[in-house]
Amino acid sequence: MSEYSGKCHCGNTEWTAKLEKEQQGHVLCHCDTCKILSGSTFTLNQIIPKSALSITKGGDDLGKYTYYGDSGKGVHCYYCKNCTAHVYHHQEILGHDTIILRTGLLKEGLDGTLKPAAEIYGKSRLGWEKEVAQTFEVMPPS
Ligand SMILES: [Zn+2]
Ligand SMILES: [Zn+2]
Repeated sequence: MSEYSGKCHCGNTEWTAKLEKEQQGHVLCHCDTCKILSGSTFTLNQIIPKSALSITKGGDDLGKYTYYGDSGKGVHCYYCKNCTAHVYHHQEILGHDTIILRTGLLKEGLDGTLKPAAEIYGKSRLGWEKEVAQTFEVMPPS
């Protein structure tokens, strides 16, 4: 396990995340929601226990945006209210103790230390994007 640190664009929000060895990589998500929320072609994520994330600055002041995923269950997105950088998402379908961390905002995400580990929603990958890791049409079989 290693501890990683992240901060939002404006610096109002900072956090640390403890990632187990098998979590030390990005899961690329190509779904349309990720495209729209990020303004890009995919997002970088990792599924971690909620207890592994610690908001060290600005924690009480995160904004929350809720949408409904393919399952029909709520997905709550937590972001810096000032600069709107998304810190993590909580999908109700994963239970109370599990969150989706945006690994692209970690220092080690920005400097390239963390590598792609898998790709999900491959069915929505744009035609000109290259495959960089094992790709699942939607989600890995559970
Ligand atoms: Zn910010
Ligand atoms: Zn997505």
